Parts: sequence; structure tokens; C-alpha cells
Amino acid sequence: MKIVLATGNKGKLREFKQMCQDEVVAFSDLLGEFDIVEDGDTFAANALIKARTIYEKLGEEYLVISDDSGISLPVLDGAPGIYSARYAGVGVTDKDNLYKLIDAVKEKGLKSTPAYYTAAIAIVSKYGEYVVHGWMHGDVIDEARGDKGFGYDPMFIPAGMELTLGELDDDIKSKISHRGKALELAKPIIWMLKNK
Ligand code: IMP
Repeated sequence: MKIVLATGNKGKLREFKQMCQDEVVAFSDLLGEFDIVEDGDTFAANALIKARTIYEKLGEEYLVISDDSGISLPVLDGAPGIYSARYAGVGVTDKDNLYKLIDAVKEKGLKSTPAYYTAAIAIVSKYGEYVVHGWMHGDVIDEARGDKGFGYDPMFIPAGMELTLGELDDDIKSKISHRGKALELAKPIIWMLKNK
């Protein structure tokens, strides 16, 4: 069974490839680039929409993994949450979203405030559908520091650390990240499905 990642996000792809020992292929290498309408109202629903769409196009010999993720700020009632990728509008860049969130923190008159990332990983194969979650807690600050990671990483300081994810290396992030934690739960499921 071949493992395919249902994501076009380059930051996520790089992290998955680094974290998975198995050879994983991006769906766009097999099917070309196209947009998937993510109209679910939870991370899990959107992860399943992505994985099912790709699985239906590829067929039974594939195991499709997708990730839907985002950042939530309690001070903003959980925003941007499932809208993290389009917080500053449709078709915007990661930088537009990052600076919009920095502005939102500044508008609250805060230098720093608690935040958490959520990742839902969906796995779809002929044997059924599974979803697992992972979280990473910390604080966001009112500026961008460092250019590692992607998305909101330059403003996010993981709990217990002093540097932002923009300043920390990918291998440190993968040990503590929402995606890394969800992937640890996904791995035994993937292994079980591959060996059925
Ligand atoms: P998705 O591709 O629809 O799941 O959108 C996820 C969005 O959430 C990304 O575009 C990023 O803005 C943000 N995001 C998710 N995970 C991370 C992360 O690990 N670091 C930084 N931003 C992230």
C-alpha cells in the first residue's frame, strides 16, 4: 500500500517527510495541483474531507494521510482556529496571516498571550477512516522572530522555552509539535493498515 499525503502546504510536507521513515509522496506528484474545498466546521472534519477526496481519486491501493491544523488564541475566542490558512483573506500568503495575527495581539494591548496549535491527522484506506489529534501550547508575541518553520511559527514560543519556533530547528519542533504528537498516534494505525 502506497502512502500519499493530502497536502499542498510545503511546510507541512517538509515536516511529514522529516518525521516519517516511510517514503511518503505528495498527492500533487500523482494528481497535479488542485484545490479542495474545506467546508467542515472542525479540524477533524476538514482533515477527513481532504483525505477522502484524494483517496477517491487514487483508489484502493493507496493509504491517504491528511493534516488539518491551525492556531487558536483564547483572547480572540479561539480565532483564527480552523480559519488559520485564510485569516487575512482567500489567496493570501503565510506572512499576511502572521502579521494580521500580530496586529490582533497588539490591538488587545498585549505583548504576549497564551495560544495553542491543533493538528488533526486523518487516515483513509480501504480498511476504513481514522482521525487523531495533537496539540502544542505556548504563547504568541507581538512580533515575528526567526525565519524557520512556517506560518505563525515566528510569533509562537512553545511552553517552557524562550525562543520562537521561527528560531528553533525543525528537529526540535517535530518532537514537541501538534503535528509530531498527532503523527505518533497515527503511526501505529498506519503500520496496522499497511500490514493487514
Ligand atoms: P490547513 O492547510 O488548511 O490545515 O491550514 C493550516 C494553517 O494553519 C497553515 O496555513 C498555517 O497558517 C497554520 N499552521 C498549521 N500548522 C502550523 C505550524 O506548525 N506552524 C505554523 N503555522 C501552522
